[in-house]
Amino acid sequence: MLDTVVPLTPRSAIDSKLPYTALRKGEVALVGAGPGDPELLTIKALNMLRQAEVILYDYLVSDEIMSLVSSDAILVCVGKRAGAHSVPQHKTNQLLVDFAKQGYRVVRIKGGDPFVFGRGAEELEILVDNGVSFQVVPGITAASGATAYAGIPLTHRDYAQSALFVTGHLKDEDSSVDWSTLARKNQTLVIYMGLMKSGFIEKQLQQHGRAEDTPIAIIERGTQSSQKVIYGKLSELSQLSTQAASPALIVVGEVVALGKKLEWFNKDSEHSQELAYV
Ligand code: SAH
Repeated sequence: MLDTVVPLTPRSAIDSKLPYTALRKGEVALVGAGPGDPELLTIKALNMLRQAEVILYDYLVSDEIMSLVSSDAILVCVGKRAGAHSVPQHKTNQLLVDFAKQGYRVVRIKGGDPFVFGRGAEELEILVDNGVSFQVVPGITAASGATAYAGIPLTHRDYAQSALFVTGHLKDEDSSVDWSTLARKNQTLVIYMGLMKSGFIEKQLQQHGRAEDTPIAIIERGTQSSQKVIYGKLSELSQLSTQAASPALIVVGEVVALGKKLEWFNKDSEHSQELAYV
């Protein structure tokens, strides 16, 4: 059955069979863009993008995804990069309220899932306070997308019974972080925004009992054609982090060892040539 050829369905036929939620005038849709590969957008996200009259986006939303939006839409970049906030959060909040109050159909699109380390809820609180209605469209979060494309399962019956997602924006003195929980074995730890603090993370995990030879991976630009995966062990984390650039995820755990066997994405150039447009 593997070589069965499935006929491509024309775009109009796909669209007409799918449910479709309207984005109303004066309403905001908070949309998750997923980790970068445009095919990982949900159909609902795409529907919202196509209806949007104004789109506020940040740098994590890939260019390929931004190229899908209506050419008439007003695009506003409110991007944030580590250490450089191009538009302060309160301005973004104000822009959302103002555009909605002017009656535009507004999409606020964020990388990954808007409720996972994305401050999406903070923006919604402002909308509620200002009487603006909204919808939320979840997206594939980086931890899920990037590991899948690296062939690293988040859980596995033999190697990890749980997975934890944490932010690497940790303060050294932050006592609310329970390092002994983070350092448990047979668990997958996925660290967002962790490159800058990798030395501290490496030290804390080992001090709290994680073995120094625990496999780690750093996945840079996961799911994008330029995805890069760096493998190593926990004791090499800070040194390997210097070879990686943002956006990148750090994955710590026994499951990482499977990545070398299950690697599939970008493995050969043939794969990237199989793209077809419906
Ligand atoms: N809301 C987003 C996360 C925003 S925080 C989500 O659900 O994915 C930003 C961090 O997410 C980055 O610093 C990086 O650690 C991670 N990240 C986002 N996209 C990524 C990608 N394509 N590959 C690897 N890490 C990514």
